[in-house]
Amino acid sequence: MPAEVPLLKLDGLTKRYGDHVAVAPTSLSIQPRDFFAILGPSGCGKTTLLRMIGGFVQPSGGTVQIGGADVTRLGPERRPTGMVFQNYGLFQHMTVRQNIAYGLKLRREPKARMDAAVDEMMALVHLDHLAERAAPELSGGQRQRVALARALILKPKVLLLDEPLAALDLKLRKTMHRELRALHQAIGGTFILVSHDQSEVMTLANRVAVMEHGAVVQEGSPRDIYMRPANVFVSGFIGEANTLRGSRRDGRIELAGGASLAHAGRDGAVSVVLRPEQLELEPIEPARVSLEAEVTDLIFLGPFTHLHCTLANGDALLVHVESRHVAAAHRPGARIRLGWKADDQLVLDAS
Ligand code: ATP
Repeated sequence: MPAEVPLLKLDGLTKRYGDHVAVAPTSLSIQPRDFFAILGPSGCGKTTLLRMIGGFVQPSGGTVQIGGADVTRLGPERRPTGMVFQNYGLFQHMTVRQNIAYGLKLRREPKARMDAAVDEMMALVHLDHLAERAAPELSGGQRQRVALARALILKPKVLLLDEPLAALDLKLRKTMHRELRALHQAIGGTFILVSHDQSEVMTLANRVAVMEHGAVVQEGSPRDIYMRPANVFVSGFIGEANTLRGSRRDGRIELAGGASLAHAGRDGAVSVVLRPEQLELEPIEPARVSLEAEVTDLIFLGPFTHLHCTLANGDALLVHVESRHVAAAHRPGARIRLGWKADDQLVLDAS
């Protein structure tokens, strides 16, 4: 299948504040209908990157193309983008209907067409029953829906979402995740989401760019990034990861706890990354790699139990096991063997 023409193309997009590089030269292609997430810890530059796409921050270098047109020098109102801000930015003296209609009113849309579009939008975000409610009388989730409807009614080619659910409690956030997914599918649009919440990103996005210190360190599907993290930072940021310190000599890696595994490469320090669900309790098949660890804590979570362990060198190891496999012998202070398939481990240079 031929690759689609990207809807959004960033080429060397950069932002510096004096000597500080907020966003290092970044090149990305985003396809039509992508739900693209920019994920990273606080201060890594993700909001600045999103704001450059929306035209709210002037880049220090590089270009933004949307639908083949260079929009780098255009202000936000002249770009085919819509933005939903973290604090929603609703007009407090207006009703739900007036807030949603605002952009069309500015465009001097005929009243009948405007009313029909607003009704359609309110239905889409489940706000029809609140049309005449004043903005200050809305709950957090309702405000969020108004902010989404207000941006979507202008039919942006790209919808930019800056941590749109950060202010909501966990339960409502999970409901909104499902609604956002459904909305994206219903509209068939292109969404770009900034988030520091990996579970939000895994739920919503089909592609992810992980940022660290102003640079995109890995880009791919959530699955690719979980299965093949590019470095230790990414492995810990998407999903939980155990990072064991080891050393390689003559094609073998030794880890604390007595694990020894064949692995070709340069002599020196390495990190072996293992997901908590990849570790198995005894009985361990002979072909597995295994090591000895001490149990420090046991957390029962219904179907699964989290076993916290340490190795002789102090490395921590988290193991997710099905609760029915946990035995009386797995108590704090006990020494246990843990095994894993050599194919599952990921070996990264420690540097
Ligand atoms: P958060 O999740 O906390 O919002 P972020 O990843 O979105 O963080 P940015 O807001 O993009 O991070 O900021 C990236 C870096 O650029 C930070 O070090 C920040 O202090 C700096 N920065 C952002 N805006 C400005 C500004 N107007 N002037 C100077 N430095 C800025």
